[in-house]
Amino acid sequence: MFENLKSQPADKILMLMQAFREDPRENKIDLGVGVYKNAEGVTPVMRAIKAAEHKLWEEQTTKAYVGLAGDPAYSDAMIKLILGDAVERGNVAAAATPGGTGAVRQAFELIKMANPGARVFVSDPTWPNHVSILNYLNIETVVYRYFDRETRGVNFDGMIEDLKTAQKGDVILLHGCCHNPTGANLNAVQWQEVINLLNERGLIPMIDIAYQGFGDGLEEDALGVRLVAANCPETLIAASCSKNFGIYRERTGLLMAVANDAGGQALNQQTLAFLNRQNYSFPPDHGARLVTMILNDEALRADWAAELEETRLGMLTLRQGLADELQRLTGSDRFSFIAQHRGMFSLLGTTPDLVEKMRVDNGIYMVGDSRLNIAGLNAKTVPILAQAIVDAGV
Ligand code: PMP
Repeated sequence: MFENLKSQPADKILMLMQAFREDPRENKIDLGVGVYKNAEGVTPVMRAIKAAEHKLWEEQTTKAYVGLAGDPAYSDAMIKLILGDAVERGNVAAAATPGGTGAVRQAFELIKMANPGARVFVSDPTWPNHVSILNYLNIETVVYRYFDRETRGVNFDGMIEDLKTAQKGDVILLHGCCHNPTGANLNAVQWQEVINLLNERGLIPMIDIAYQGFGDGLEEDALGVRLVAANCPETLIAASCSKNFGIYRERTGLLMAVANDAGGQALNQQTLAFLNRQNYSFPPDHGARLVTMILNDEALRADWAAELEETRLGMLTLRQGLADELQRLTGSDRFSFIAQHRGMFSLLGTTPDLVEKMRVDNGIYMVGDSRLNIAGLNAKTVPILAQAIVDAGV
């Protein structure tokens, strides 16, 4: 049997990490893998997480199973964090999942169960896992224009034109904030225009939100998802706590299905629990419990929000520093998009050849599509990267 298996392509980002580790150069810079790193290059355990873990260790009396959809208190706290008061709580079904990836996967499975003919529209480009899971599940994928490689902003006219080719029941996958890999995002007016189109054509929005708090702030980053959930009859939302709580390996995510009435909610809730049962039964609890403890405790929550805000502002400072340095070196504003992008990533919009050249010549590691992880920089490496970008002729 095993001989029938086909070898799978190696993950490009993991290969890049390996090459970085093996590079002996001291001044090498890792802008590849999508984890937050502080100025010392460390991915820290957040203070509130440590405090909650300590408390949990003292107070937890059992590790017995929780529930197929996870702890309802986790769902409640996360729904409030993401959706605020945008929708009736009674219309939202939710289930804990192993990370945001688990939520994305379960959402795609739900789409397939509910409407096997639905196509899923994804942005060009999008997080590669979206496409690979869709392919794995044999769901037809349609790519819509998104990133304008000239302006490095959103090609909104192209996006709308492409979304107009979707048919009733098709699913439109949108990034809630901090678009991965581009860093280019919709503004409030554009979100509203997308919502109008979705409703005119009977299209179903699915929002992937993995970086709430990394862009313009916790509330600001939820603007798009809240507008969509409040104004569309049905919305799927896949959320991740990996980045904003810094609990990557704890695998903490949530899938939400927002219906337009409580009857729809009940059916969705059963379906989400069923899907968890089929795939892994009970979702992981440790990370979800820490998140719940933090969100429901005033002091822990304030400390978490403060540390997240420091993280966000630190990335904005690095963005501005890089854009300023490039402005100084080139005498032009063509890199100002770096300061306008939001989140951990910016797509430089250059060729794989030049990305490779910067790796070979300068020890700068970024993903081949020219995505750079802003958090991989610090005050010392910003000018080094800027010089390398100019030298490579980007
Ligand atoms: N969606 C997007 C767009 C992401 O960038 C990520 C993280 N790389 C995820 C979902 C899910 O992350 P995780 O499974 O680690 O929570």
